[in-house]
Amino acid sequence: MMILIQNGHRCERQMRIFGRLFFSDDEYTLITTHFTHENDKISVYATVLTDDDVYFYDYALDFPNNTADASLVRKTYDAACALAFCKAAQKMRPVSLPWGVMSGVRPAKVVRQFSESGYTDLQIRGILSKIYGASEEKIDLAFEVAKREKLLLSEIEENTVSLYIGIPFCPTRCLYCSFVSTDVRVSGKYMDEFVRLLLLEIDKTAEIMKKMNVTADNIYIGGGTPTTLSACQLTMIFDKIKERFDISALKEYTIEAGRPDTITPERLSSARKGGANRISINPQTMNDDTLRRVGRAHSSEMTRQAFYMARNAGFETINMDLIAGLPGETSKDFCHSLDEVIKLNPENITVHSLCVKRAADFRHTQNALAESGEMNKMLNYAYKIMRQTERFPYYMYRQKNMSGNLENVGYAKEGHMSVYNVNIMEEVQTIIAMGGGGSSKVVCGTHIDRVFNFKDPVEYIRRFEEILEKKNEILKLWEERNKK
Ligand code: SF4
Repeated sequence: MMILIQNGHRCERQMRIFGRLFFSDDEYTLITTHFTHENDKISVYATVLTDDDVYFYDYALDFPNNTADASLVRKTYDAACALAFCKAAQKMRPVSLPWGVMSGVRPAKVVRQFSESGYTDLQIRGILSKIYGASEEKIDLAFEVAKREKLLLSEIEENTVSLYIGIPFCPTRCLYCSFVSTDVRVSGKYMDEFVRLLLLEIDKTAEIMKKMNVTADNIYIGGGTPTTLSACQLTMIFDKIKERFDISALKEYTIEAGRPDTITPERLSSARKGGANRISINPQTMNDDTLRRVGRAHSSEMTRQAFYMARNAGFETINMDLIAGLPGETSKDFCHSLDEVIKLNPENITVHSLCVKRAADFRHTQNALAESGEMNKMLNYAYKIMRQTERFPYYMYRQKNMSGNLENVGYAKEGHMSVYNVNIMEEVQTIIAMGGGGSSKVVCGTHIDRVFNFKDPVEYIRRFEEILEKKNEILKLWEERNKK
């Protein structure tokens, strides 16, 4: 149980986010902060009391009392309290905080927003380092990603949208899965009906897009694992997309084929004939023992075969995902996986840090999760080797409960950055989502309205009328947006 007492400034949400990194819910913890801002100086005195110990930290930061930017003032106060607490707690437990007390999921977006508000690079670096306590290395990464994202964002044209289609089926469920997906051995009987209704939702989406006077500039078919569907079902979806949208205007058309065991020449041919030009084949690791341990029914050799099949089918941009910190893996295992993937020479590689929100699942496996030092070695190796092979970081996000409190980074060769990935992070273009678990975002400046599709295929089928109604809701939000 965490008890929080704050004087001078309250920021309970922020404090609880960081409190959970150090203490579990069943530990008695009393946290206090005493905050003042006088004579251009912020001071926070934090104490942490547990059943066994008490620690404190006296934090001070120069910060002008007359700062006009109210949002920066609030963020600074929150960060100062959180940082004072973390410094006290770190005396008790060595939790690594490479991003300091930046709790948001999009560090590069923070850089972009400060920059658009008129702050210089030097000032932004000062804020990230002094106020949030982020390391120089992470600040450099955030700037590098922000620079590349800016390039893609500048190319987004008015009255264009991204389209997302969610296929919530996978052949089996991975132990660490935090996505929208159902195991096809249980939900497979709903696939035909799901596809039949999805085609109707595509029709409906095309109708509202006509009224919105917008066109799609990219399409992303994700999941789940879309290639869990049969080649015939995929063809029906691709044909419908071709019938209802102008795919010749697309900058990018992606299909996720996350599980190599679902990739066949027939499915690839269906995707290529449908117009897809980018594919994601996700080994997660190239170590067969780990694959078995985490519940993936494929081998590293199947990944290689799937990769060559996709190349032969004509995919010019192939992405491969790896996860750093899978249970039982050391930095040596991860580096081996990365070396093996690089030998295949994909244009994109995305390196995820294991998200341990399902840590409970791993406890039963008796497989240790990597310590932060090991995690750092893995990500540092990735950064170095990507640079050597001319792949550069272009999108990044963080999640709660990531191993080592690190980040997920997408690397790309020149000319192969994914428009959709950047857009989903930066939220500057409207996204219309279809299928299971899709979340539409109607963007108006910095204001975003979200409309969620049902995640579960059974729910999607049973409440399909509501799915169609949600499309009308998107149209209404768009019309209101245009009145502003
Ligand atoms: S392949 Fe991806 S979406 Fe499917 S179960 Fe595994 S982690 Fe989840």
